[in-house]
Amino acid sequence: MVLGHESAGTIVQVGSSVTTLKPGDRVALEPGYPCRRCGPCLSGRYNLCPEMRFAATPPYHGTLTGFWVSPADFCYKLPDSVTLQEGALIEPLAVAVHIVRQAAVVTPGQSVVVMGAGPVGLLCAAVARAFGASTVVSVDIVESKLSFAKSFCSTHTYSSQRIPAPENASNIRALAPSLAGGADVVIDASGAEPSIQTSLHVVRPGGTYVQGGMGRDEITFPIMALCLKEVTAKGSFRYGSGDYKLAVELVASGKVDVRKLISGVVAFEEAEQAFKKVKEGEVIKILIAGPNEKKE
Ligand SMILES: [Zn+2]
Repeated sequence: MVLGHESAGTIVQVGSSVTTLKPGDRVALEPGYPCRRCGPCLSGRYNLCPEMRFAATPPYHGTLTGFWVSPADFCYKLPDSVTLQEGALIEPLAVAVHIVRQAAVVTPGQSVVVMGAGPVGLLCAAVARAFGASTVVSVDIVESKLSFAKSFCSTHTYSSQRIPAPENASNIRALAPSLAGGADVVIDASGAEPSIQTSLHVVRPGGTYVQGGMGRDEITFPIMALCLKEVTAKGSFRYGSGDYKLAVELVASGKVDVRKLISGVVAFEEAEQAFKKVKEGEVIKILIAGPNEKKE
């Protein structure tokens, strides 16, 4: 099947009823569209639609192709200041926007800990900063990812150790006075069991924990910490109403510089190289030029 779901492109043709877009417009593509009729859709949570047609999710092909057909309202026109390359990164940024919005309480001055410094973890940290959090900690086991996080957006970083979760948590709390009582918000963008356990120990009493990363189906979860601290726990899946729009605005206003995540661009014919490099962990994001893109 055709892979791909992080894409931007140029409109070549529109249907007779489309009034918001015209050929030549550059757009970020939201790669899944829902039924618009079911309970979740009508309640504004279309990412939970059971009839969702999502790119590169069987039986639907992905966007790594020359042409793509999409409903007009799932194409987001890019301002002149935003490039198509940045447009392709609106998708992971929208995932991060949705995750941070799930926390609901990220407001000026708050402290946020993000577990995982892969693309989504980094973008969660950047969105939390953009929303006004004054302390943002990125946690990972790979030093190079942490040094990138520091240059990208995080105020603090922590290299997770092979020690019990409560000890990692107390090390994180020691990073800044604002974390002494625990973090206001903890986001897991790793899906890794030790990170999830640390999350529940590092969140403050009455704080919020959001699960964004996907790992194993079942893990050992410190449920007593959740109960005794009255933690609000939320899941997060893809993105919903307003997330893409906000992601485009964050890039257009310069609040999140997604260009820093782009390690390179390969020709369509060399797409396999991009997957290899990402798998080897050498790069953060590699873009693949579309087959119709003019060669330099
Ligand atoms: Zn639906």
